[in-house]
Amino acid sequence: MQTNFSLVQLADPNVEEAESILRKCVHCGFCTATCPTYVLLGDELDSPRGRIYLIKGMLEKGEAATAEVTKHLDRCLSCLSCMTTCPSGVNYMHLVDHARNHVEHTYKRPLFERFLRNLLSYLIPRPFWFRGALNIASLTKPLVKNFVSGRIKALIDLAPKDLPAASVVDQPQTFKAIGAKKGRVALLSGCAQTVLAPSINEATVRLLTRHGIEVVVAKGVGCCGSLVHHMGKEEMAEQQMKAAIQGWMAEIESEGLDAIITNASGCGTTIKDYGFMLRNDPNWAERAAKISDLAKDITEYLAELEPLALADKEDDQPAKIVAYHAPCSIQHGQKITKQPKELLTGAGFVVRDVPEGHLCCGSAGTYNIMQPELAEKLRDRKVKNIETLAPDIIATGNIGCQCQISSGTDIPVVHNVELLDWATGGPKPEVLD
Ligand code: SF4
Ligand code: SF4
Repeated sequence: MQTNFSLVQLADPNVEEAESILRKCVHCGFCTATCPTYVLLGDELDSPRGRIYLIKGMLEKGEAATAEVTKHLDRCLSCLSCMTTCPSGVNYMHLVDHARNHVEHTYKRPLFERFLRNLLSYLIPRPFWFRGALNIASLTKPLVKNFVSGRIKALIDLAPKDLPAASVVDQPQTFKAIGAKKGRVALLSGCAQTVLAPSINEATVRLLTRHGIEVVVAKGVGCCGSLVHHMGKEEMAEQQMKAAIQGWMAEIESEGLDAIITNASGCGTTIKDYGFMLRNDPNWAERAAKISDLAKDITEYLAELEPLALADKEDDQPAKIVAYHAPCSIQHGQKITKQPKELLTGAGFVVRDVPEGHLCCGSAGTYNIMQPELAEKLRDRKVKNIETLAPDIIATGNIGCQCQISSGTDIPVVHNVELLDWATGGPKPEVLD
């Protein structure tokens, strides 16, 4: 694609990067067929190619983002399905990240939208406040649910009926390996996940330590920055990223780390990109690149270990049909496709692929709150596809997908690690009782 940036514009390394991405696009349009918003809306401006044109126009003019451009960029899920399809290697992720930051700095959103975005970006990364907000939402839900709609309804719907208690596992500490120590890793305990499903980190710690891996939850590491990064709030994201880098570097420099483990694939995709995001900051570039190199999804790491030691159980465990829902961040963002399914199969489950598995479930960070109609359509389509498999269990690797899908079906949705933990001697996931 031909571009028209001035030399002054290209002096900005972020614009220079955007230009090099734009030039790779050959307008072939292959990406449109696999873009969830194009599939739903059929509008070229809600396809990757259309958005690329909008971004190009906005950046070349160097002007403030318009309401129209913002609308189509906001509808993008950042699912990165287009990157899997693109034959020309267009890095849509870096392009849309830059465009979102431009929108955030140049476009004044309506007051309520600004309020909601600020509220979400404050609450969700802070487990204490997020828990409090969910408790309030859950108490008021029966009273207000018939009087609200749209984004407020989506926000209230997020609150589960019973919020699990906070887990001690998520406090900074070290979990010793059981038996001979074979490795040492840091676990990102995360933010929203610790509130919504603390059982995931508990299962991860049990699973790893049972297989000889020491696990550290590093001091000072909170949210990885992914949530606000996808909202275009780059300064806030950088603060969170730098705090995480500092926390993990302290561990690397003391007792060393073989890997930094994520069990929420949305976070994993962002941490693997720290090196790129901080590449122009001389004080942080090297450390950020090191952290990205060490980042691994839990299934990626487990697949590199010796085969999991299955428990000798006589109860009803495995041999259950599992529909594996691949989160976009794992299949498109991290290109991890085989490991979760192979691990589950190795653990005795009968794993089935979901039809139209490349399409997003509509979760996408805060997307299900900010774009509730589209998110609901995608969720219903995903659930319909899953239900054709008649599974006993739905397994996935991202808390956002877990909440989104479970809000549309009675089939229990669990994290992969909860099944693997169960199969190797851990407790049966509560949701399966
Ligand atoms: S990231 Fe997903 S929603 Fe956005 S343009 Fe690409 S395929 Fe479409
Ligand atoms: S598939 Fe790639 S090259 Fe083709 S239009 Fe989409 S982004 Fe551009």
